[in-house]
Amino acid sequence: MKATILNVGTELLVGSTLNTHSYYISQKLHEIGVGVLYHAVVGDNPVRLEDMIGYYYDTSDLIIATGGLGPTEDDLTKEIFAKWFGVPLYFSEEIREDIEARFRGFGRPMTPNNLRQCYVPEGAEILWNENGTATGFILEKDGKIAILLPGPPRELRPMFEKQVIPWLRQRVSQVLTSRYFKIFGLGESATEDRLSDLFAAQINPTLATYAKTGEVLLRVTASGASDSENQKLLEPMVEEIRSRIGDHIYAERDAELSEVLFELLRDKGLKIALAESCTGGMMADMLVSHSGVSEVFGVSVVAYDNAVKASVLGVPAETLETFGAVSEETARAMSEGISKISGAELCISVTGIAGPDGGTEKKPVGLVYMDLYNSLSREHRTFKQVFTGNRERVRQASAMKAFYEAIQWLKADLTIASKEI
Ligand code: AMP
Ligand code: MG
Repeated sequence: MKATILNVGTELLVGSTLNTHSYYISQKLHEIGVGVLYHAVVGDNPVRLEDMIGYYYDTSDLIIATGGLGPTEDDLTKEIFAKWFGVPLYFSEEIREDIEARFRGFGRPMTPNNLRQCYVPEGAEILWNENGTATGFILEKDGKIAILLPGPPRELRPMFEKQVIPWLRQRVSQVLTSRYFKIFGLGESATEDRLSDLFAAQINPTLATYAKTGEVLLRVTASGASDSENQKLLEPMVEEIRSRIGDHIYAERDAELSEVLFELLRDKGLKIALAESCTGGMMADMLVSHSGVSEVFGVSVVAYDNAVKASVLGVPAETLETFGAVSEETARAMSEGISKISGAELCISVTGIAGPDGGTEKKPVGLVYMDLYNSLSREHRTFKQVFTGNRERVRQASAMKAFYEAIQWLKADLTIASKEI
């Protein structure tokens, strides 16, 4: 089944409302194996709406239209679809009673324009609205389907999940199954390059990459009669991907670095502590976005000023003087310092020049030292990198790189992993 999502509303075209229905519905349709061919947006204009319906009626099996089902003059979606499907509208007493009951519930009289919402295209299935007065509709003719949904997300989403998805599931014979890979340290084009023959030959499964901030999401999707059949199609491709870029894959699902790190620490019963200079609390912020993280994370010291690096983290004054705040030696002293304060097994420090000012020939903008310290084995892993991009990007890239290296270490290292022994 091939679908088009047609969002109706002038507010979408003038930029006063963000069109969230298109991606929401696309995601849901993808999950149940309905391929989306087009996203289209049209204003509250009857002529253009009718033109759009005509075009997508010919090219798709299913049109999902959103918006324009309300009581006001500019709400025309239902009328135009009924015209296109060649059916009259009839007045539904059942809907009138439902709307009247709602208004009684609010303690307000029903305005006459609400009666517009009581009209139903003949033969349409009614989709009841838990959170509003506009009902949705399913129209069917000659193998073509139109599903009309109200604009407000809190009305559309429950209707879609509870009524539309089950209805569609019964009609869809193909199932889509996707596997995801999160990739760090290999850009989108480098990822595609390593998999170029797979991309060139893709039929089923298909592959797609999505560039995210500092990382890449790779999706592999198989289409077949059942999920288990799809898994069989996916397995050889998944193996091939692992063998080619496995060293850069940090998760085989769409997860964040901070989330994967949190889970690894929790599974191993370890704690993390942070000493942040140029990231300024960004790493802590990334970690605490995950509920339950207090199990593994207790403290981050933002030691931005050298005086604080010395007084709070105990970085020796001579280290700061001799090597500077942005140096391997300071990074190591910072992570050892936070280790003493926290007692955490894994300690991470980051110190660098986020820019745009402050760079020198020897220490350019973007130069960052990241140190990972294993308090149990007293081992350091220090990374030096010159990141490009603006201040925000340098800070984010440093935090992500530190987390990525921590994940790699936790996955591989036996000293930390065998703490209990
Ligand atoms: P309507 O059903 O066209 O009267 O839309 C009612 C309200 O729903 C609009 O004012 C928007 O706030 C919201 N809305 C409509 N279309 C969308 C959309 N595509 N994405 C997100 N919100 C929408
Ligand atoms: Mg509207």
